This record gives sequence, structure tokens and C-alpha cells, in this order.
Amino acid sequence: RSSSGDDQLSGRVRVAVRLRPQNAEETVTDADFADCVELQPELKRLKLRKNSWDSDTYEFDEVLTEFASQKRVYEVVAKPVVESVLEGYNGTVMAYGQTGTGKTFTLGRLGDEDTSARGIMVRAMEDILANISQDSDSVIISYLQIYMETIQDLLNPENDNIAIVEDPRTGDVSVPSATMVDVRSHKDFMELLRLGEAHRVATNTKLNTESSRSHAILMVHIRRSIAETESDIASENDHSSHMGNTLKPPVIRKGKLVVVDLAGSERIHKSGSEGHTLEEAKSINLSLSALGKCINALAENSPHVPVRDSKLTRLLKDSFGGTARTSLVITIGPSPRHRTETASTILFGQRAM
Ligand code: ADP
Ligand code: MG
Repeated sequence: RSSSGDDQLSGRVRVAVRLRPQNAEETVTDADFADCVELQPELKRLKLRKNSWDSDTYEFDEVLTEFASQKRVYEVVAKPVVESVLEGYNGTVMAYGQTGTGKTFTLGRLGDEDTSARGIMVRAMEDILANISQDSDSVIISYLQIYMETIQDLLNPENDNIAIVEDPRTGDVSVPSATMVDVRSHKDFMELLRLGEAHRVATNTKLNTESSRSHAILMVHIRRSIAETESDIASENDHSSHMGNTLKPPVIRKGKLVVVDLAGSERIHKSGSEGHTLEEAKSINLSLSALGKCINALAENSPHVPVRDSKLTRLLKDSFGGTARTSLVITIGPSPRHRTETASTILFGQRAM
């Protein structure tokens, strides 16, 4: 007998699709075209046009139109994951899609001047800070980038070759050499995000590449110490065991939230690429296809999730399967010019379900 709650806690990946509004350039150049996607959010369906008379229909867990607010996107995509992390589980939120379709808008937008524009990272931290005790709990952040199978510290660019360490007993993964910052306030967190973003731009300029060619990974470690269980409180209230305050050691709950702004999924044409660009493309293809294989394994409830194939999937190892929750948002644009990339993004999302 499984309730819908159990279902959400199983290895299954929840997949939402988000459509970016047409941008100014597309409005001009695509004036003669109809958008190549049509959304039916109430049916949780997306139609991808094949030609003027025919289309393919896909179903997702959630379909977010170009009018969906950042608040709604947070609530649908990330809030259930954040809630389970606060309860002591591991959880992952990832955005996958072609460059320019809104991954960073969805996850990383700071919304300094307009709080309604805030993305998932900021909203998740607001939720976390509102639900922990400043005295007894801790929230520790690291912010990393994976570029060409190397893990770099976005909070300290000198630290540019971070090793993944796996606990042989528990299987937990960690990155002990990464900068870990104890976050106490919303203001602290915004400063870290800004610092990470500045380093991301600087690092990529130095490496002569675009930020969209690397994965950005925010890790949030939450440690909560819960003094009493609810049943203790109940038995105290009914006065049957009135001899009062037997001191119990607090229950410790540790959860980890990982938010991943993936490298652009677009295929770089091998014919036009050489040297650096080709190596870059190969490494992105390697990690995204390794991720795809892991997500497929989760979707199929397979006992074997092949995490070994890339740094990205090794880092996410203890966030896959078991009691961990994974939420994937695939981002697409409306333009018929990008139909092939849009189709491939949709396929990645479908395979995850
Ligand atoms: P990506 O990170 O996938 O490369 P971005 O998040 O940088 O894409 O988005 C590309 C551009 O589209 C940015 O100018 C961004 O502000 C805009 N954009 C993306 N998604 C939306 C949206 N849902 N609503 C309005 N503008 C958006
Ligand atoms: Mg981006």
C-alpha cells in the first residue's frame, strides 16, 4: 500500500518543464513562425510541433508556462526537496537545457532590486533560515564549479583542483578541501552568491571559456539538533509521567541540499570545433550523458546507479536514490530555430521519469 507521500520519497525523479518567453530578438526574426511548442499546463502536457499539421505530445510532472512566476517555480520544483532536506534527507535540484533558455534565471537569480525575481537558490535559503534555530543549528555552504572534469572552488579560486572523498563505511561523499562557510543570515548568503558569481565569471575569463560550459554547484549542509520528539511533549502534557525533565540527548538531523546549474546541453558541432572547444564539448557530453544514465537508473528503480563515470555524478552519489529526492527542471525556448535542441532537452526530461 503506497500513499502518494511514499511515492514522492522513492527514487523517482520529479521532472518539470519551463518555457522561457520569446525574447526581443526572436520576436523580430521569428515573426513569421508560430512557436514550436504549445503548453497545456492543466493537463501537464507539452506539444512539440513536427510540422504545420502535426505534433508530438509529452507529459511531465509539472508544466510551467512563460507566465509562471519565480515563486510558483520554487514551490513546484524545489520546495518539497527543501522540506525533506530540513527533515534530514539529501536532496538535489537541477536545471538542464540549452544555453539561453533560463537555467540561471530559474536557479541563480538574486533579485536584489526586485524580490519577486529571486530564483531557487535564494528562496531555498530563505526557507531554510526561517526553519532552523540560530542557537543550536547550522547551515554550511560550499559553492563549486566543474569544468573539464576538474572541481574548482567558487568561493576561493586559488583552490582549483578539489578532490572528492568518499566514506568507505557510509558511502557519503564530501569535498573536505572546499571552502565551507557558516551562513547565519540572508545577507551573508547573498554575499556568498555574489562572490561565487564574480569568481565564476573571472575563472571562465581566465580559462577563456563561457560560464555556460561549466556546471555550478551549490551545496548546503544543514545540521539540526532537535531537543525533544513530539511524543515526549505529548506524554509530558498528559501528566502520566509527571516527574518531568528527564534530559534526553537531542536528535541530530543532517541534510544536504545540492543545487546544480548544469552546463548548456547544446551539441557543439564537431566539424566546426577543434582543440580547446572540442575537448570542452567532449567533457560536457561526458558528464551530461553520465548524469542522464544515473537519472534513468533512478527512474527505473535500478539498484545500480552508475555514478563512477564523471565528477558530477560522483559528487551527487549520495544524493541519488534511497531516501534522497531529486527534482529536475528542463528549460526550453519557444523558437522553431532551436527545435532540434528543444527536442533533445525534452527527451532528456522524459527519460528521467
Ligand atoms: P541559461 O542559464 O540557461 O543560459 P539564462 O538564465 O541566462 O539562460 O537566460 C537567458 C536570458 O533569458 C536572460 O536574459 C534571462 O533573463 C532571460 N530569461 C530566461 N528565462 C526567463 C523567464 N522565465 N522570464 C523572463 N526572462 C527569462
Ligand atoms: Mg546560465
